[in-house]
Amino acid sequence: MEGSTPPEFEVAITTAIAAPEAFGASFDEAPAHGELELGAGLEGDPALAFRRTLGMFATGVTVLTTRVAEQVHGMTANAFMSVSLSPPLVLVSIDRRARMGALMHEGTRFGVSVLEARQTGLSDRFAGRIAEGVAEPSFEIVHETPLVEGALAHLVARVVRSYWGGDHSLFLGQVEFARYGEGRPLLFHGGRYERLVDDPRMFAMLAPELLDPILALGEARKFADGEAIMRIGEPGAELLLVLEGTVRVERPGRNLTLGVGELIGEIEVLDPGGDRIADIHAEGPVRCLAVSRADLIKALEADPRAAIALIEVLAARFRETA
Ligand code: FAD
Repeated sequence: MEGSTPPEFEVAITTAIAAPEAFGASFDEAPAHGELELGAGLEGDPALAFRRTLGMFATGVTVLTTRVAEQVHGMTANAFMSVSLSPPLVLVSIDRRARMGALMHEGTRFGVSVLEARQTGLSDRFAGRIAEGVAEPSFEIVHETPLVEGALAHLVARVVRSYWGGDHSLFLGQVEFARYGEGRPLLFHGGRYERLVDDPRMFAMLAPELLDPILALGEARKFADGEAIMRIGEPGAELLLVLEGTVRVERPGRNLTLGVGELIGEIEVLDPGGDRIADIHAEGPVRCLAVSRADLIKALEADPRAAIALIEVLAARFRETA
């Protein structure tokens, strides 16, 4: 995780959970066991087909932790979901055979560490898989609860309800502490780890002889200190090159500063329906060159070599995640 101080807040719990009478009772009884019908092409082991179907739902990866006396126990889990903002509630689903489940009781505090893209080794480790060359995990204690150091986000929750969940048990946790830092999440899809593309550069990857004629079509813009250059949700129909000064890019989970020679809005300008995905402000006086989408298309039509080079950049990106 990059070194900046993560935004951190104690979740104010103002609302006691006023559950209706018999809240959750309907979940305590096992429903009658019905047949699972599988779609065409899913012949073979039905359990495997069901598992693979569920695996199409992409998730992040967490490590659940709890402490018994001075002993820390952790377990990898992707069956984590947010439930309610007020009161703040989350839910985890734990295999009845897992040691973790046996440690979770009403009132037990547990930690949720949302793993960062490079933490596949930790995920394997806490799933009981062989994870060679992975450093011993270290824990930070917050609200008397261990949290895995270096994770992208952390929560501490207290079990307030548990439910029957077939071969799993569901634990509803009231969140007492939450924070997140900067970085990219580890993803899990189709039974394997995935990650988001790291490098969003497109035009910046072009050789100067291909990029310069495109930028030559731009018009100069000036921004005063603190002025918004673009806002999340606005249409992104321009590519901007920073000529003077620095700009602050802010988007959930990712903040950075860009300086002279760097490009802004490279992806949105190629995506006709694409809105801005970041707030960008001038840090001090800033001068930019703005190329409209229409001029950009004209330039690519005039020299298809630049268009081909952009397709090659995209193809390389796909290979990164495949
Ligand atoms: P164990 O199997 O005893 O422990 C798990 C592993 O963590 C062991 O290797 C142990 O050595 C290590 N460990 C525990 N504590 C520490 C510590 N303090 N320091 C260092 N190492 C420690 N199962 C579910 O029930 N629900 C899910 O949502 C879920 N999602 C998963 C998602 C992914 C991506 C993966 C890979 C697995 C998932 N699993 C899930 C499976 C689950 O992680 C494993 O079955 C796990 O082994 C169950 O842990 P356990 O509590 O039985 O403890």
